Amino acid sequence: MTTPYFESVAVVGAGTMGNGIAHVFAQCGARVLLIDTVEAALERGLATIEKNLARQVKKEKISEADSAAIRGRMQGSTSLNDLSDQQLVVEAIVENAEIKCAVFAQLDQLTGPDTILASNTSAISLTKIAAATERADRVIGMHFMNPVPMMKLVEVIRGQETSRATLDTINACAESLGKVPVEAEDYAGFVSNRILMPMINEAAFALMEGIATKEGIDTVMKLGMNHPMGPLTLADYIGLDICLDVMEVLQRGLGDDKYRPCPLLRRMVEAGRLGRKSGKGFYDYD
Ligand code: NAD
Repeated sequence: MTTPYFESVAVVGAGTMGNGIAHVFAQCGARVLLIDTVEAALERGLATIEKNLARQVKKEKISEADSAAIRGRMQGSTSLNDLSDQQLVVEAIVENAEIKCAVFAQLDQLTGPDTILASNTSAISLTKIAAATERADRVIGMHFMNPVPMMKLVEVIRGQETSRATLDTINACAESLGKVPVEAEDYAGFVSNRILMPMINEAAFALMEGIATKEGIDTVMKLGMNHPMGPLTLADYIGLDICLDVMEVLQRGLGDDKYRPCPLLRRMVEAGRLGRKSGKGFYDYD
């Protein structure tokens, strides 16, 4: 265990990303309060952490004692009112600007004036989220990648008013978690989704126009470009509804129709083909 950069951290949202973020902070020695307003989601998040810790023990990455200590540093809650002395809050709730702004306004009221408020948003404007608070200089994007314990990158997003001191603190914090921070300015999609999603969208256009089969498109990108998986396979992992949402954010946010979502992508979402989570997307899953 390394010395924690922050001793006390809260993570709001215990879903796919939130439980992973809570896990890495607790593993690095921080006390972590994991909050999800939906009791069942909180229980699922804590159970996922248990399962991932057991896997780490089995693979001899950590000892049984480490695992118990990590669990011991973690607490769950269904209420933001349980926030107390946390130095950092990382929000990982649903990707909806209105809901995120409302939660940040609450976080602003419920935390001390020095607490840094970070969002794991994939594409929503940090400047807009920060404007819901009275501390825009201490609001920042901390965009972890999925699965959080395995992926090295943290995109650190600077909103219009985010201070240099806050950026430096969050860069150092990410490094203390064993991650590599990369700073990005607050424009739609930041770096990761600005580049990734148009590639996936273009792969959907290539399929729609019959340029190649889905397997052919994925194989070209895997064998020809050395990508670990093809764009259509990756889209199925991410969720086609999320890919569509992000393309709409890029088109709207950057005001450029070169980001228009592929009609095939839209049609597949309308048909309920959302990727792995719905059992079928570009490919079928059992
Ligand atoms: P998710 O749906 O798995 O989890 C969201 C959780 O937030 C749910 O458990 C929900 O009950 C909870 N929640 C909703 N409103 C809440 C509130 N007001 N207070 C407390 N909890 C609340 O979502 P996710 O995939 O973990 O995504 C979370 C965020 O991370 C989103 O902003 C998303 O864009 C971003 N993100 C996702 C990925 C990914 O691959 N899934 C990758 C990077 C970033």
